[in-house]
Amino acid sequence: MLGCLLRGGCGPLVCLWTLLLPLVSLQHLNQHWHRGHSERDRSKLLLVSFDGFRWDYIHRVPMPNFKSIMNEGVMVEQVEDVYITKTFPNHYSLVTGLYAETHGIVANEMYDPALNLSFSMETDSIYDSRWWEAAVPLWVTIQKAGGRCGAAMWPGSDVKIHGMLPTQYLPYNASVSFETRVERIIEWFSAPKEEAVDFGILYWEEPDESGHILGPESSLMDAVIVDIDEKLGFLINELKKAGLYEKVNLIVTSDHGMTQLFSDKIIELDEYVSRDLYTWVDKSPVVGILPKEGKLEEVYGKLMDANPNMVVYKKEEIPEHFHYRKNIRIMPIIIEAKEGWTIMQNRTGDFMLGNHGYNNTLQSMRPIFMAHGPAFRQNYVKTSMHSVDLYPLMCHILAVRPLPNNGSLSNVKDLLSSEPTPSTPSIAPRVKEYSYAPVVGSFLGVVMVMGFLVIYIRQVTLKQLPSLKHRSREMSQPLLQEDLHL
Ligand SMILES: [Zn+2]
Repeated sequence: MLGCLLRGGCGPLVCLWTLLLPLVSLQHLNQHWHRGHSERDRSKLLLVSFDGFRWDYIHRVPMPNFKSIMNEGVMVEQVEDVYITKTFPNHYSLVTGLYAETHGIVANEMYDPALNLSFSMETDSIYDSRWWEAAVPLWVTIQKAGGRCGAAMWPGSDVKIHGMLPTQYLPYNASVSFETRVERIIEWFSAPKEEAVDFGILYWEEPDESGHILGPESSLMDAVIVDIDEKLGFLINELKKAGLYEKVNLIVTSDHGMTQLFSDKIIELDEYVSRDLYTWVDKSPVVGILPKEGKLEEVYGKLMDANPNMVVYKKEEIPEHFHYRKNIRIMPIIIEAKEGWTIMQNRTGDFMLGNHGYNNTLQSMRPIFMAHGPAFRQNYVKTSMHSVDLYPLMCHILAVRPLPNNGSLSNVKDLLSSEPTPSTPSIAPRVKEYSYAPVVGSFLGVVMVMGFLVIYIRQVTLKQLPSLKHRSREMSQPLLQEDLHL
C-alpha cells in the first residue's frame, strides 16, 4: 500500500479507504469484544440478607451450615454498617455502596420538606420512586448493561426506580415463606441462558422480628438462630440440587445487629419538651425531631442537656464520621439514645426488648458477613470491612462498572480468589462505549493519511516537473518557483 502511494499507482480515494478500513474494523471488533467478554466472564452472584443477624449469633449455638460456608469460603468478623443502623438505610447501602445521606433513604420513617411527603416502611409510601432515585441500585445498573436480575423481597426491589424493576421480582409480602422465595430464586438462576439472572437478592425478616420481641440476649433466641441455620441449609441444598452451588457466588450478610433493651432504661421526651413545639418524625433509638416554625433553638435548648443517656445534635453538629448530615430528609435535630436505652414520648408507647439503629461503631450493631463460590478464597477470615465496600466487590465479581460510591474494592480484594488487576474487564453500558481508543486510532489514522497524501502529491508533482518548469516560465508564479527549487 505504501509503495502504491509512493508510485502513484492507485487513486488517492482507494488508498484512503484502504487505510481507514482497518481502523473501522478495529472499532467494530472492540464493541464485539466488550459484548463477547461480558457474556463469557460475568459470574453469577446471590446476595442474601437475614435481617438483624448480629455478627456473633453464629458463636452461641451450633451452626453447621454457616460453618460450612465459613470453612469453604470467607468470613469477615466485624462489618461496620451505615448510620443509622436501620433496615431500609442499610439495605439500600448494600446495593448502592452509598451512605444514607447520599442515597437518600435516611431512615425507616422520613419526612421530605421539599416533596412535603412522609415515608414509612409500614405504608405504601415506599412505592413512590422519588424517595429512591438519588441513587441507582445495582440491579438497575446490571440491567442497563444488558444483564438480568431477580429479587425476592429485598427492601426497595419492588419499587420502580429510574423507570426499572428487577427482571424478575416478588412484590413484598411478609407471608411468603422463605422456602418459596428460595424456589423462585433457583428458578430464575436455572432458566435458559438467555433468560437466567446474573444477580439475585433474597431477603428474610428473621432473626430481626424475634430479636425485637424477645431481646437478643434471651435464651429463646437460640431456637430462632438455629432455624436461620436450617434455612441457610435449605438454600444450600436447593442450589446443590440445581447444580448451582459451585457456580453461583453466594454472599450471606445482614443489615445490622441487635442490642438488648431494659424497661428501666426509658427516656420520656414529654418530661423535657412540649409536643406542641415539634413533630416526631423518626423513632427510637435515633429520633428525628422537626421543630415547629421558629422553635428550633427553643426545642434544642430544652433537650440538649436534659438526659445523660441521650446525645442531642443539631443537624450541622452531627459528627462527620457518621456521614449523616447532608440530606434534606435528615431532621434539624436528632437525638441518639445510648446503647440499651429507648426514647419515647411517654411510657404509653410500645416497648421492645431488642432494637437497633444505634451508633454504628457499637459492636452490637454489626451484622454477619460470609461468602462462598468461585470468586472467593477458601477458609479465609478477615478482621473487618465497611458494608459500603460490598458494592464495589459485587460489581467486580459481576464485571459491571460501578457507579461512584463510598466503598473501596481495595479494602476487600483479599476476599477474592484472584487478585483484581487494572485490566479486569468492566462492562460499559451497551448504550455507550466510553473508550479513548477509537478517538486516538482515528486521529493517528488521519495523520497517517495526510502524511501519505503529502508524499503522494509530491511524487506526482516530481513526475510532472518538466512540464511544471515549462508552465512556470509561462505563469511566473514566485511561490511555485520556490517550491521547485527545494
Ligand atoms: Zn433490619
